[in-house]
Amino acid sequence: MECNGIKNVSRTVVCRKLLDTFLASPKTLEVTIYNINDYKALILFMVKTNTMKKLLFSLLISISAFAQIDRVEPPFWYSGMTLSKVQILFYGKNIAQYDVAVSNNIVIDNIKKTENPNYVFVTIDTKNAPVSELTFSFKSKGKVALTQKYELKQRRQNSKFRKGYDSSDMIYLIMSDRFANGNPKNDSDNSLNEKADRSNPNGRHGGDIEGIIKNLDYIKELGATAVWPTPLCEDNDPKGSYHTYGQSDVYKIDPRFGTNEDYLRLSAELHSRGMKNILDYVTNHWGYQHWMYKDLPTYDWVHQFPGYSQSNYRMTTQFDPNASDIDAKNCMDGWFVPSMPDLNQSNPLVLNYLIQNAIWWIEYADLDGFRVDTYSYNDKEGISKWTKAILDEYPNFNIVGEVWMHNQAQMAYWQKDSKIGAIESYNSYLPSVMDFTLHDAFGSVFNEDKGEWDKGMIKVYDNFVNDFLYPNINNILVFAENHDTNRFNSAYKKDFRKYQMAMTLLATIRGIPQLYYGSEIGMDGDKGKGDGDIRHDFPGGWNGDSNNAFTKAGRNEEQNKFYDFTSKLFNWRKSKDVIHFGKMKHYIPVNNVYVYFRYNEKESVMVVINNSNETQTFKTNRFAESIQNHLGGKDIFSGKMIDLKNDVSIEGKSVLVLELK
Ligand code: CA
Repeated sequence: MECNGIKNVSRTVVCRKLLDTFLASPKTLEVTIYNINDYKALILFMVKTNTMKKLLFSLLISISAFAQIDRVEPPFWYSGMTLSKVQILFYGKNIAQYDVAVSNNIVIDNIKKTENPNYVFVTIDTKNAPVSELTFSFKSKGKVALTQKYELKQRRQNSKFRKGYDSSDMIYLIMSDRFANGNPKNDSDNSLNEKADRSNPNGRHGGDIEGIIKNLDYIKELGATAVWPTPLCEDNDPKGSYHTYGQSDVYKIDPRFGTNEDYLRLSAELHSRGMKNILDYVTNHWGYQHWMYKDLPTYDWVHQFPGYSQSNYRMTTQFDPNASDIDAKNCMDGWFVPSMPDLNQSNPLVLNYLIQNAIWWIEYADLDGFRVDTYSYNDKEGISKWTKAILDEYPNFNIVGEVWMHNQAQMAYWQKDSKIGAIESYNSYLPSVMDFTLHDAFGSVFNEDKGEWDKGMIKVYDNFVNDFLYPNINNILVFAENHDTNRFNSAYKKDFRKYQMAMTLLATIRGIPQLYYGSEIGMDGDKGKGDGDIRHDFPGGWNGDSNNAFTKAGRNEEQNKFYDFTSKLFNWRKSKDVIHFGKMKHYIPVNNVYVYFRYNEKESVMVVINNSNETQTFKTNRFAESIQNHLGGKDIFSGKMIDLKNDVSIEGKSVLVLELK
């Protein structure tokens, strides 16, 4: 506040002067108030002390400068970042009218104003700037109208070289709203549109961060080493907001999931168990309730045609040499659905915003990796710059992109340093892609009892034939299902033998296995019945659930059968360097029996999957180049030694995982 020309006067001083003026009338007091809180406090004071009436004509309150800053993003930055030139967004009514300056000898690199006067983007260079508190001042006609504190915080130790997840990990994918309700008090929030309704399959059910934290020991016991919860930032859609892919504030955890501090606690709790935290990042779109979409900084912040146009979802147009430009543009720039405005990453302001937001979360929440939604729908050049910027900041970080393709060359195109991408000089810089073709095979192969030329295990074999296409074969996410697909146990009617085959494959082939919550207890769900059906609440996650599958005693016999098998398999995998990083040699399936070996200099593991209904007996001499001098193998499930000098028999629809001795 200013009082009679004196700057930075405290509220108490002004109040005292008000009283003095009241008693010694008719002096005039000129007060300039810069924020609404001071204004409210003064009015309240005048009412309480009865000074209002008398001072009405002698008090000149200047309220013309009643601007305030509503948003500052990123809300703070860190000292010593590679990305030291940070572009800070200030949002407030007519904020662009002011001249901006900053304290502490920090250099302002540039100031960007847009056609919307409520935004100003100020880039400061924090190189060599110590941990400190800066002050931004916004001046009008030479007078400071507004000030804003801005912190450069201390980074965590070794933050830059944080190691992302890799093929030694097993990722547990959680539908955040559907796993466990650790805090029933936050199920609905007054400030947000959609309230909890557990009876609605597409409603919010109350699952939250506290629920995940409470069950981390369960997840660890299962053999998982990393957790991927679906997005946790605020999604204020009035309907279907539970999946949280239409976010309305990307700097804030949705209060129905908890607070930003709760999310930090999730990271800390994971790390204390030697586990990793993976954030599900959405670069392609926001929700239409996003605060910025309601007052766009620039018309082209999102793609407009004008307004909505749906993507054609034909991602092949992004590299098809015969594709028309219009098809490629409509795929990339079209909206995913009407409620998700498509972000324009070719606008440098948008791109910077997304890069800084991503890096901010890694640094702030001590993250170990990203999963990026709808990766191949983004502006191709923009998403490549986004990915590279993150890896420039954190060279050992890992990012897996959702590249939902049905052809290996097309998936490999998106992996960092792809030779296929290089044909047209494209590099996405994306370290990891998802093995959707393996997922495609998983959808039917275990029902194909008879091995034929193109049916049965040959489909799985064929998936690995094309491994030469991938620049980094270990950095591929492998999965039987996820939150957007049919559930495995639904496709195979909870056939435990088929589940065993699928999980054994996932746990022993190259890549990073990902498990979808609930499958480990036999949960099923039919995509044909809608997304709600593949995203059921985990039993035991809600107070009063009659079945608590989080504990051995609470699980029924069938659930324990699924759980025990899964836990044994993935806990065995934890220490198996030969599985994580070893080579693979496989043999053409015969009679629907698939045999492959994982090996390194120290050890060999032989995997046998009999997908026929009958017991199969085979000679081992065909595998001599892999068995070498080993005499037998110890089965990791039964503990029995299998003699490899003689014929080996394996029951129909079963597996052997043999550590060669
Ligand atoms: Ca809750």
